[in-house]
Amino acid sequence: MESNPFNPEMIVILAPGLPATRRRRIRERLESVGATVSVVDGAERQYLELRGEIAALQTIAIDGWPGVDKVIVLGESAMHWAPDDEADCAPIQVAGQTIGQGEFTIIAGPCAIEDEERALRIAGRVEAAGANLFRGGAYKPRTSPYAFQGLGKDALPILEKVRNQTGLGIITEVLDPRDVERISQVADMLQVGSRNMHNYSLLKELGQASTPVLLKRGFSSTIDEWLMAAEYILSGGNSMVVLCERGIRCAAASRKVVLDLGAISELKKRTHLPIFVDPSHGSGEAYRVPSLAKAAVAAGADGVLIEVHDQPSEALSDGRQALTPEQFEKLVPELYSIRTALGETGTQFSEQVVGSSSGEDH
Ligand code: PEP
Ligand code: MN
Repeated sequence: MESNPFNPEMIVILAPGLPATRRRRIRERLESVGATVSVVDGAERQYLELRGEIAALQTIAIDGWPGVDKVIVLGESAMHWAPDDEADCAPIQVAGQTIGQGEFTIIAGPCAIEDEERALRIAGRVEAAGANLFRGGAYKPRTSPYAFQGLGKDALPILEKVRNQTGLGIITEVLDPRDVERISQVADMLQVGSRNMHNYSLLKELGQASTPVLLKRGFSSTIDEWLMAAEYILSGGNSMVVLCERGIRCAAASRKVVLDLGAISELKKRTHLPIFVDPSHGSGEAYRVPSLAKAAVAAGADGVLIEVHDQPSEALSDGRQALTPEQFEKLVPELYSIRTALGETGTQFSEQVVGSSSGEDH
């Protein structure tokens, strides 16, 4: 993070009447960790203004040091980006689709790639319905080691074929830092799943990659922790990060998770990163998906990620929450109608698809 020469990043308030020797020791200790320290005289006490590299200082309990009354953090090192920094705000392009910047993006596909024929069939349906990108899992992070783990590397040529046949950009999840390079050769965007939001080796590896990343929120993670995870990727040099809210655990939830739609406006205030919502994992039940997807659009999401399966009851993972292609076809124009009602314009959805909706209930 660039140091701001004018405003301090942190203020350390010293105890009143602190002896000069103790004050000097505090100052020297702060400087040894990398801060530039200036002393400000108050009526009864002194304040230390810290500039420079304060990230390391934030992990030290300075407020517990003898002679320190209070510590105030002003600059947020997690916010590596500044909304008015043009370099950081460069549009994220995924297979010809602009993400964010007023555009709305629909990512759809099955939870897992099960076989080639089915993947191509589902991809054809979601593309015709207006999806902008296809997502299908090759490597699946399953709660049980006995559950279907995905086809792994055998799914990669299938994803490639989907791209060739439909023209849709491909998103797939990466679980292991050692797979980043290999999967990047096929995928246009890499998903970091909820369980791996705290996998710092993976995040660091993705910071070195030149493939955009869809970073899902850990299901028990605060917004600050989520932003710090994004920071790992951004600070490594990869500025193409899209955040995806996917539901968080809550003691009072009527299902496993509650979709935190309030996170959208908070994140819009705090970062320039595009915010997507995954109403499929955020609800766990297909009948709850359309209303949550619509609510996400109304709340200002830059895109949604929706699981679609042509035979949900046969799906090898997440069948309960998968929309059928027919349900998805009905939902897409509804999402765009909400965008239009809110005066949001974008160019990625053709009027033709809106016009072709049957409007029937499925
Ligand atoms: C998924 O996208 O299929 C998935 C496993 O999601 P999450 O990481 O949000 O649970
Ligand atoms: Mn899934």
